[in-house]
Amino acid sequence: MIEALAGAVAGAGLTALGLGMFHPKVALFGPQHSHGPRAAPRVALSFDDGPHPDFTPRIAEALAKAGAQATFFCIGELAEKHPEVARALVAAGHELGNHTFSHNTGAHLFSAAALTDDLRRCQALLATLGAAPRWYRPAVGIRNPPVHAAARALGLQIVTWSGAARDGAWAFDEARALRLARQAQAGDILVLHDGLRGTPSRVRESTVRWLPTLLEALKARGLQPVTVSQLMAGPAQP
Ligand SMILES: [Zn+2]
Repeated sequence: MIEALAGAVAGAGLTALGLGMFHPKVALFGPQHSHGPRAAPRVALSFDDGPHPDFTPRIAEALAKAGAQATFFCIGELAEKHPEVARALVAAGHELGNHTFSHNTGAHLFSAAALTDDLRRCQALLATLGAAPRWYRPAVGIRNPPVHAAARALGLQIVTWSGAARDGAWAFDEARALRLARQAQAGDILVLHDGLRGTPSRVRESTVRWLPTLLEALKARGLQPVTVSQLMAGPAQP
């Protein structure tokens, strides 16, 4: 019954308020990070739903050109399929985060045990690629008691975001890129997407197309893009 309900809700793509908390800044069921320390002029960039064999390397190239680093919240089953893409991210100094193995937004949201197994599987897979993820971004950002229980079981910290490109659903464009940069505050965590998960390729092309504009606009404001771990650690002490 519950699984049927979850399937129906997930299938309908509803904002499943009954499943838990969607708003990235509201911590109703447990601790999470929607931003880091605000003292230094830095923002964390994060990318969800990859790795993708075409888009992820192109995004990494744009980051390299801008001298920026990011955290890639990988889906385990995609990292298993494209290990070389994930390894290249690690080699380039980017960070990998846990975005679940299977990105299940149905039954796993009702079972801490099933979700814990799924996160552990992703964690083990990413470890084979040279990463030791500390951060967990729940699928679709939903947090509820099973999500928090699974995070605790594995010693992972939940990371949401303060600013979103919203390129999971809509094409990124110049206006969105400039607005995201304009609204960003020191310590913010920004979320974009490098994977597809049903998103049309043209939408992800728009992320690749306008990412450099976002990076330039952040730079113009003096905000350095870093990984979530770098952001959380704060500036190096003299
Ligand atoms: Zn996702």
